[in-house]
Amino acid sequence: MIFEIPKLRSGRRTGAGVVSARREWCRAGGFLVLAALATAGCRVASREPAAGGKVRVLATTTVVADLVRQVGGDRVAVSCLMAAGIDPHSYKPTPRDADRLASADLVVANGLELEGRLAEMLRKLSRQRPVVAVAEAIPAADLLPAGGGQHDPHVWFDPILWRHCGTALAEALARVDPSGAEEYRTRAAAYADTLTAVDDRVRRRIEGIPADGRVLVTAHDAFRYFGRAYGIEVVGVQGTSTESEAGLADINRLVDLVVSRRLPAVFVETSVSDRSVAALREGAAAQGHEVGLGGTLHSDSLGGPGSNAETLESALESNVATIVAALGGDRP
Ligand code: ZN
Repeated sequence: MIFEIPKLRSGRRTGAGVVSARREWCRAGGFLVLAALATAGCRVASREPAAGGKVRVLATTTVVADLVRQVGGDRVAVSCLMAAGIDPHSYKPTPRDADRLASADLVVANGLELEGRLAEMLRKLSRQRPVVAVAEAIPAADLLPAGGGQHDPHVWFDPILWRHCGTALAEALARVDPSGAEEYRTRAAAYADTLTAVDDRVRRRIEGIPADGRVLVTAHDAFRYFGRAYGIEVVGVQGTSTESEAGLADINRLVDLVVSRRLPAVFVETSVSDRSVAALREGAAAQGHEVGLGGTLHSDSLGGPGSNAETLESALESNVATIVAALGGDRP
């Protein structure tokens, strides 16, 4: 978890000179919102937006920022810490980030350790400001393990799971902007319907790929939830984080897989170096199997302006079109 609940519940003095403040996870609608509390009790300092003003929300990644736009609508002004194409696992926060985080009315993170090095800054911030880690609203039973007691953070490519995050966000927004509560909940419900429809469309397109060809080899393990949702075998050259380089043994294992299954294509990602995928293709070619480049997938970042993949919905549709074309699933 990005925020360690046992520590947060301790209520002890933390850090030199920091006034002890009781911190708790506020339970709201069955999910967790972290609040900085000056007094006992579960309460977030609520702030009505200034007249004509908007709730200032800072999202960590483009995926999370899109969720804030979907649920917050016109009541919120969203900014995003990491630009499109940035890898959240290896992102190094800057001093300016600390200022931006401290001036937001609500900080929205994915959580589940996606934000890597930013996580510590978020932990510190959560002593003073409302922070919500939306992916941590997903029931633990629905999460995939990622080793070391962690969970795989790449939940957004299962639209059905992502609905939980919209609901959690609506409640977090309602706490900092109570007069908008109804609107946030209505928008989250409408967005959940959108995600259900997206799920249905994706499922039907993936079913067009021959069953034995439903194998997705990508640069890092960002598509395990996607694979589970749609019956695709997913193999990443790197693990669920990009923080450690893929080793030779990982590459060789995948070369064997690609060659023995005669896979037609492997994929690169917009936010991850394509070095390991290039090594994989070279290895397969050396064994007499030319594996194509299936295209570039959006993984931990949505597309930038003009990419036609600026929202989760459009990025997912773009990915599915790329995957279906490369794996021979396009129906006449
Ligand atoms: Zn990732």
